Amino acid sequence: MTDSKPFLIKTDSIITGLKNEKSGKHYILIEKGKIKEIGILSELRKSLSNINSFEYKNSTALPGLVDGHTHMIAPGTGQRGDDIAKEQDEFLLIRAVKNAKLALESGVTTARENGAKNNIGFILKEAIKNKLTDGPEMIVCGRPLTITAGHMGYLGSETDGINEIKKETRKLIKEGADFLKIAATGGSTITSNPLQPAFSVEELKSISEEAKRFNKLTAAHCTSNLGIDFSLQAKIDMIIHCIFDDENGNYKYREDLVEKILKNETWINPTLQISIYGLENIKENLSNKKILSEQEKSLLDSSKKQLDSRFETVSKLITSGAKIMAGSDSPWGSYPPGKFYKEIEALNIAGMSNYESILAGTKYSAESIGLKNKSGTIEEGKDADIVIVKGNPLKNISCLSEPIQVYKQGIKQKNEL
Ligand SMILES: [Zn+2]
Repeated sequence: MTDSKPFLIKTDSIITGLKNEKSGKHYILIEKGKIKEIGILSELRKSLSNINSFEYKNSTALPGLVDGHTHMIAPGTGQRGDDIAKEQDEFLLIRAVKNAKLALESGVTTARENGAKNNIGFILKEAIKNKLTDGPEMIVCGRPLTITAGHMGYLGSETDGINEIKKETRKLIKEGADFLKIAATGGSTITSNPLQPAFSVEELKSISEEAKRFNKLTAAHCTSNLGIDFSLQAKIDMIIHCIFDDENGNYKYREDLVEKILKNETWINPTLQISIYGLENIKENLSNKKILSEQEKSLLDSSKKQLDSRFETVSKLITSGAKIMAGSDSPWGSYPPGKFYKEIEALNIAGMSNYESILAGTKYSAESIGLKNKSGTIEEGKDADIVIVKGNPLKNISCLSEPIQVYKQGIKQKNEL
């Protein structure tokens, strides 16, 4: 499918992600996998009128989606991380290949992989790069750094104490990590506590400083106030989940921490949709029970409450002007693969405009993962990563759910009728 000759894409409207968006029919000139030129169709010059072109009726072109948070080894069926990690690496790699393909077909042309087991993330990235399989352009951490018994320790990088942590950080970079993912609190991992910080501030600082020395970004999973606090003190680049719970599990939105988030210009990856799927999964599991036990009732109640406070947090963060980007966390938990658009929709529900939520999943997510000059906007010189959808997502955000065509570096990823 490689086409080295230049060609045109023509659509009824375009979202470039740049200032001065213009409405109406546009063309995009693509050459050697890069965007060469963008213009208004009625102004197409004669010299371009004879080159190969693909016209999509009643459609919008937008930048290829950038999912800033994936876990390709997971099935998205509600299986716990502790159980996923019991599978053979070879099995998980095959699943990751399948999920990566689904992601690309759904419009995700770039994905930041937030933690696979052992070498799987590195191998997946290399396999896609070498065109052995189709998938998004991958930015990988390899394995998340975590304390002994900490969240995602089963993925293979448990480490404690500054010397050991520095060594593991350097080892991951040597193996090919593009960024460092840190479990700054516990999480769903059985032996971990989501309300307690994992690493000390000094330990987090040692990762952050090592990362900076090697020009790598950092991102920390934080499901409690202390974890957020510690990560901000250590100048971590991105806070994932950003759950404002105190040590007792009570929701407490901390204005002082938000001020620090704004001051440090820390990126926030809210992962709202995974909580929605989580609640749906609980409801479904309990749906054929006539009477719920006290334990089941309290699980259902606390999940509903948590979802409400997550939405409240994100709405407040949007109003405060925090830098928010979209990353699905899929197919972790009950979030099925190939549905990144659901996270964009969730941000929309939380209060972002259609346009801003689209930027969160394209321009902002690309910026937040260090790809500002390569992807995230339809812009001359950038990779020709383009999604074509029916209708206009500025009017109806849900038209992102089924792209008509996906171009990754100028190559079509779907058969056209
Ligand atoms: Zn995750």
